Amino acid sequence: MRFSLRPLSFSVGISMSAAWAYYLHSNEVFFPIVEAKEVNAIPQIPPCVLNRDVFSSCRYVRGTFETPDTKRMTFACELPSSSETLDCIILRGKDPVQERAYVPIAKRDGEIDLLIQRVKRGTVSMALHALLVGETVEMKGPYPLMQGLPEKALKPTKNVFIAEGALGMAGVFPLLHDGCVLMLSGKTINDLPLVDDVLSNKKGVEAFLSLESGMWGWQGSYGPLHKKEILQGKLGGGGDPSNKNTFLYIAGTENFVGKVEDTLTELGWGPERVKRVFS
Ligand SMILES: Cc1cc2nc3c(=O)[nH]c(=O)nc-3n(C[C@H](O)[C@H](O)[C@H](O)COP(=O)(O)OP(=O)(O)OC[C@H]3O[C@@H](n4cnc5c(N)ncnc54)[C@H](O)[C@@H]3O)c2cc1C
Repeated sequence: MRFSLRPLSFSVGISMSAAWAYYLHSNEVFFPIVEAKEVNAIPQIPPCVLNRDVFSSCRYVRGTFETPDTKRMTFACELPSSSETLDCIILRGKDPVQERAYVPIAKRDGEIDLLIQRVKRGTVSMALHALLVGETVEMKGPYPLMQGLPEKALKPTKNVFIAEGALGMAGVFPLLHDGCVLMLSGKTINDLPLVDDVLSNKKGVEAFLSLESGMWGWQGSYGPLHKKEILQGKLGGGGDPSNKNTFLYIAGTENFVGKVEDTLTELGWGPERVKRVFS
């Protein structure tokens, strides 16, 4: 008599599938799901704390264009402690000799903002504008730019900040405070960064904006800020008794600062009341 194993293997197969289905549908699956006790998350990179001696790598976090050639760029890094000076930091490009100074215009916990103007064929400024989020640059500092910050609390002290373009604005922006006057000059509207911040009066600043050349719809004034008529019209003369508590701070290119100083001297403003932000 011949026996066939086929029915047996068939029934064994059926029973194994049934057991498999039971395991899958019961709570006791082969690989029970348990709550994770430890999660292997990607560790957050802490911001680096800058120092003056060695360069540290700082991560680029985000950036927004203030004008077509000027970007407000945020980096994950901390300045050692709040100091009594206006500071600048040094950034370097890939080649160690390409070191440039920049002013942190805002400091928060673990972040600083720089206002970077991309200059034509500028080695470092162009490289900075080309950074991708997450990439790093080398920085060190801070170095004191101007000691003896403008007195904010004492009334009736009046501080007037005279600035030109992105470079000037980077220098004076950290110094602006309630009740001060900002006179900002640019060749075109594209040279006036952070204007929204100032005009929306977040800082309680009285702003006077001047373009060197005309533009349709512009509601500010026209003419270079170093012009005698403009400075006299806005500030009056240095010998005027109503100006005895007024202090002037100038920032911008060497050419602009020199011309403003010359005009102020002509108007009788003594050096004790006129200061350069980048001296
Ligand atoms: C104390 C201090 C603080 C500064 N803070 C800031 C800041 O907060 N933000 C900022 O954007 N810059 C700032 N600067 C200027 C900055 O350090 C660089 O000089 C600037 O970014 C140009 O560097 P670069 O390598 O791109 O150009 P470079 O390769 O050095 O120069 C390329 C060409 O651009 C010309 N050039 C250089 N600078 C300017 C300019 N400002 N305008 C027009 N042409 C220029 C040069 O003559 C050259 O022909 C500061 C400078 C100093 C001294």
